Amino acid sequence: MMKLLVATSKTQGARENDFNHCVEGELIWIAPCCDEGDTSPDSACGCGRSFCGLNSHEGTTTALVAELPGFTYSDYAEAMRSSLAAQGWPPEAADEVARGLVAFTTGWEVGTVLERRCDWFAERLVPAPPG
Ligand SMILES: [Zn+2]
Repeated sequence: MMKLLVATSKTQGARENDFNHCVEGELIWIAPCCDEGDTSPDSACGCGRSFCGLNSHEGTTTALVAELPGFTYSDYAEAMRSSLAAQGWPPEAADEVARGLVAFTTGWEVGTVLERRCDWFAERLVPAPPG
């Protein structure tokens, strides 16, 4: 089964400048940063520390590695294509972006929460549920 990145509220607040405007569980991608975001992941715009929701077009600083049963690569590429088009990115880049994300996500365990520091990604430790 293919691993994907989805928006999660898990570990939100672990960093003071965390935010999550995505819909929980929606597909996300790693969008290019603006100049400011490229310089610092803690910039005011937040693009250097965030992932972007394919449906909401909003950002979140926390991403979950997940498997979606029955969801195929072509579903993924199509979701990427329509999202890129809706956001004014070239939709013909969808296949390359989707392949890149699949390759990226393959290296992480399902259930891992990731954060972004520009081009660098790290696992966040998920606290055990109370009790
Ligand atoms: Zn930015």
